[in-house]
Amino acid sequence: QKNLPKPSETRIITVSNQKGGVGKTTTTVNLAAALAKFGMEVLVIDIDPQGNASTALGIPHSQGVDSIYQVLIDQLSLADVVQPCPDIDNLIVAPATIDLAGAEIELVSLVAREQRLARAINKYAQHREEQGLDQLDYIFVDCPPSLGLLTVNAFVAAREVLIPIQCEYYALEGLSQLLKNIGLIQRHLNEDLEVSTILLTMYDGRTNLSSQVAEEVREHFPDEVLNAVIPRNVRISEAPSFQQTVVTYDPNSTGALSYLEAAAEMAERKRKAS
Ligand code: ADP
Ligand code: MG
Repeated sequence: QKNLPKPSETRIITVSNQKGGVGKTTTTVNLAAALAKFGMEVLVIDIDPQGNASTALGIPHSQGVDSIYQVLIDQLSLADVVQPCPDIDNLIVAPATIDLAGAEIELVSLVAREQRLARAINKYAQHREEQGLDQLDYIFVDCPPSLGLLTVNAFVAAREVLIPIQCEYYALEGLSQLLKNIGLIQRHLNEDLEVSTILLTMYDGRTNLSSQVAEEVREHFPDEVLNAVIPRNVRISEAPSFQQTVVTYDPNSTGALSYLEAAAEMAERKRKAS
């Protein structure tokens, strides 16, 4: 196990891409698991009504379970809803339930509708301090595949955006829309937000297409793209059906090793001075 530096303040990272199926959830849970394995204190916040991150981390999230939904509508605090991941030390999870599907609309009429997650996180940091708990090292927010109010809440709460990009045709389609939206957030709601990390996922070394996409993304974003690349790997896709991350399900698979490598690279890389 590597001895990685802990960040001086909590790194709050939102994992976002309005395309579905590009590896947002897989990346969230596996980077979180890898960093926890490296000894970091990690919180995963699931704000996708599908609750796939909650499933992969072995957290119950059927309708009615206390979840991030009640936090966003101010019924509960984060401290009330976080649960420890059963398989991984130092990793806690705020689950999402299907109730969140309505939140997108319910939030519209509430005050400070864009700041609710940010406030909940600040309050939770204070709560940990009062309880004598260690400061969190990483918070990951797993976003739904849309740019609605849930994703806006994640952008407002975070300092960093991590964009997973699938090494397939059309990978870059929609990226300019995402960057435009991040620009709007920076101008109006959160000037500290930056795209800190881009991770190439589902890379297939046997196809020219994958390497062409990877090359193109690296050309556009030389500072953001991690050297580590996530291959297409069947163990990665099997893990969630065992309510596990690939890092715990098959730690020696190429999928697990690539996520461990990506996590180590993230931990070692300094945030760009803004
Ligand atoms: P998103 O959260 O962006 O919708 P997911 O992380 O749920 O995407 O991934 C979509 C599907 O692809 C899931 O079934 C997941 O298990 C699978 N998958 C993700 N990454 C890989 C990979 N590197 N290799 C194989 N399958 C993957
Ligand atoms: Mg997802």
